[in-house]
Amino acid sequence: MWLLLKQGVEPAGLLKELQAEGIVAQARKIGERWALEVTENGFTPEAFLRWEEIERVISDKPLFPLVARWQGEVSVGEWRRGESPLWIAGPCSVERKQELLSLALSLRQAGVHALRGGAYKARTSPYTFQGLGEEALDWLAEAKALSGLPLCVEVVSERHLPLYQEKGIDILQVGARNMDNYWLLQEVASLHLPVLLKRNPQAHLEEWLLAAEYLLLHGAPWVLLCERGIRTFERNLRYTLDVGVFSVARQQTALPLIADPSHAAGHWQYVAALGYAALAAGAEGIMVEVHADPLCARSDAAQQLTLEQFLAFKEKAEGLYACLHSRGVAQPLQPRLE
Ligand code: PEP
Ligand code: MN
Repeated sequence: MWLLLKQGVEPAGLLKELQAEGIVAQARKIGERWALEVTENGFTPEAFLRWEEIERVISDKPLFPLVARWQGEVSVGEWRRGESPLWIAGPCSVERKQELLSLALSLRQAGVHALRGGAYKARTSPYTFQGLGEEALDWLAEAKALSGLPLCVEVVSERHLPLYQEKGIDILQVGARNMDNYWLLQEVASLHLPVLLKRNPQAHLEEWLLAAEYLLLHGAPWVLLCERGIRTFERNLRYTLDVGVFSVARQQTALPLIADPSHAAGHWQYVAALGYAALAAGAEGIMVEVHADPLCARSDAAQQLTLEQFLAFKEKAEGLYACLHSRGVAQPLQPRLE
């Protein structure tokens, strides 16, 4: 920890006072000013501000040590990290059993790595479809048994967690609205399952990574960070996909970073373009909404792709990914590990 002294302050007096408190410190001149390097002492950074000679405390502990230092294996179905983009696809909400089962088989055949599908929905309006709940989880479990695809399903309440465990959900999704619901994060993490953590559209990168820190601290083995668009003044699309965040986040963590172009676009026509942009900007995978009959979907009808649209998108996206990687354009950046 470093204590930066105010301009013109000499260190000798403060060094004596710190010594009297049992704190070992060494003075260094940084440019025109003095700074004191103090060793671990049990004092919080704020505690030093009671000395008025000190202007600022620079903590050398990273804000999110587990996120910054995370190194490990990520396993989602047959995905090989770095070799191809990760694909998580499926309907916004689970609505009809047969439709889900046949979609799951088609997605599996298309090389998707995990199936998504909402059971309990987090809807803006209380008057819109809220999801089929346990019945949807049952059908998802059947779809998993039939297709072999692992399941990625959003959790909206800790009350539902025992059901998610019972039905064999593989990746617990925390939605944009719950990214900073810290008590829910702790409960979700306590299942020791991987978590897909959407970014709250109002959250700074730092807040998003701190939410991931909660998950790692409380037992999640790894976290898939999913950028799904932030709120800006622009209203042509539903949200603004923050493509810059992939390279900045990559400097801070080795956790996998993916994009959800469906919720960012809000309209099926723009989903592919945002997906390509995300991959070019460093996203390692895509979560995308695919529906057997989007026009009849009970949630997010405008943005869901048909299977055919998805297949065309996936094929082009993979071509782009291969091209970017073979030419060294999208080499994964080395995370800065503290
Ligand atoms: C979803 O993925 O179904 C969803 C509700 O997304 P978000 O949390 O990003 O709005
Ligand atoms: Mn949706």
